Amino acid sequence: MAKLYFYYSAMNAGKTTSLLQSEYNYRERGMETLLFIPIFDDRFEKGYIASRIGLKAQAVPFDTDFNFYRFVEEKLKEPGNRIKCVLVDEAHFLTKDHVGQLSDISDFLNLPVLTYGLRTDFLGEPFEGSKYLLAHAEELSEIKTICHCGRKATMNARIDEKGAMVDAGEQVEIGGNDRYVSLCHRHFKQKIIA
Ligand SMILES: [Zn+2]
Repeated sequence: MAKLYFYYSAMNAGKTTSLLQSEYNYRERGMETLLFIPIFDDRFEKGYIASRIGLKAQAVPFDTDFNFYRFVEEKLKEPGNRIKCVLVDEAHFLTKDHVGQLSDISDFLNLPVLTYGLRTDFLGEPFEGSKYLLAHAEELSEIKTICHCGRKATMNARIDEKGAMVDAGEQVEIGGNDRYVSLCHRHFKQKIIA
């Protein structure tokens, strides 16, 4: 049976690289995949997922009204399709409904769904998508990265132009991975970013 997977981590742990590697593994075996990315992620060209180390693949942009189940169901009706896997980058931006649709894809369309995202925002609050993925994904897997002290980083600090940690603002502020630093829990609380 196909499952819903959630690969979670702090910022800059290599989630996108990991997603693109999985996608490549399917493609290398002659199978097709469907990749999705939030429409407002404009760090890279629209319609592409690109990793920091230079990998790149085509992706379908989604917004809050997008219906994953309906889209994938239609794609599977196309004659000769070899779609074997669904992958979602920046999955913390999914809505509760999206997570339900993705779960239905694995249960009723029998396609594995691999989602990649952050657990929490820069204030330590859970993102909506991550909250429901942590609740409903059948497989949870952490992609690990480290704090400046060498301990595992689980938190994402946002920094201002002067390099100081920010503790107020909008949850979503797209652009600039350099505005974020992955920290261990203790250094996040102590606001020590380096
Ligand atoms: Zn630390």
